[in-house]
Amino acid sequence: NRRVVLAARPNGLPKPSDFRLEQAAVPEPGAGQVLLRTLYLSLDPYMRNMMDPVAPIYTTSIPIGAPIAGGTVNRVVASKHPKFGSGDLVLGNAGWQDYALSDGSDLVPLGDMAKPSLALGGLGMPGFTAHVGLLDIGEPKPGETVAVAAATGAVGSAVGQIAKLKGARAVGIAGGADKCRYAVEELGFDACIDRRDPRFAELLAAACPDGIDAYFENVGGEVFDAVLPLLNVGARVPVCGFISHYNDQALPPGPNRTPLLMSALLQKRIRMQGFIILDHYGERFETFRREMGAWVEQGRVKLREDRVDGLENAPEAFIGLLQGRNFGKLVVRVAE
Ligand code: NDP
Repeated sequence: NRRVVLAARPNGLPKPSDFRLEQAAVPEPGAGQVLLRTLYLSLDPYMRNMMDPVAPIYTTSIPIGAPIAGGTVNRVVASKHPKFGSGDLVLGNAGWQDYALSDGSDLVPLGDMAKPSLALGGLGMPGFTAHVGLLDIGEPKPGETVAVAAATGAVGSAVGQIAKLKGARAVGIAGGADKCRYAVEELGFDACIDRRDPRFAELLAAACPDGIDAYFENVGGEVFDAVLPLLNVGARVPVCGFISHYNDQALPPGPNRTPLLMSALLQKRIRMQGFIILDHYGERFETFRREMGAWVEQGRVKLREDRVDGLENAPEAFIGLLQGRNFGKLVVRVAE
């Protein structure tokens, strides 16, 4: 039973030595438990927050020496639980390890899903995040301009494609020319601007001649600085994440730009609203699953996966995610 544990708390961008690959005994399921074999492990930005000594209230801090937590697709390999049998395919939370125990309360049966790793991406938590954040908070209307960064990633790619299905203009922001080309040519964005281009702010303004009506915030930082002056009166800003700051150890040096933000919010009557997807499961998830499932089946939404082989490669892949090296939803294939 191999597992990747947190060896040290990252100071800024995590280093390979912040992680350690260990061997442990395969646990035995007790009464009411199942033993899970991990097939796919999802790598997600929130894991960086869990590596800090004090995690945000919606997650917990991982103790030093403990396996890193994470969503997984698992095969039940032994069961002492009445509802699960050996061989069942489930969505679970086994974390960065080959085997884990569960009492079943966190498991979702996946039946004979053809491509189960999608349950970690566009058909699961990240896709649901895009659906709730864009539709319930961003409220895109036909003809409006919707902007989103990390536009080829798990959440952003779904945001742009759903915006198009709702009749809006979708403007993506992504790191690199190949990601931008893919967003336009394959995902159907109307435009996509490279955040690494020295003329980024200028190019973004040119791509949004009528301003921005809904900005789905994934990254913060310099991207948000370029977006803020383009927001229209009545714009909606679902605040989903701000990955460009996840490695920060302190607030950036001044000047204090809060008054600029306050002034824009006030004068343009902008609604900026944070949300945590964990709050929205229940019935809302069923609506998402039905709609997104149909869009994917009809080829109206494309889901790109960036698949890495081998649990031992999870740390490096995760470090890459925090630098934009992934191209699509990042998933580790742990076993067949
Ligand atoms: P992605 O698949 O989009 O991968 C992360 C991407 O972020 C990278 O590929 C890169 O895209 C971009 N990025 C990385 N570092 C920086 C940086 N310094 N500056 C700007 N962009 C950067 O991840 P997800 O789709 O899983 O997550 C997207 C966002 O959604 C994250 O902020 C995440 O925390 C948030 N989230 C929030 C949830 C909630 O409940 N509120 C739930 C799920 C996700 P590129 O190279 O194209 O710029």
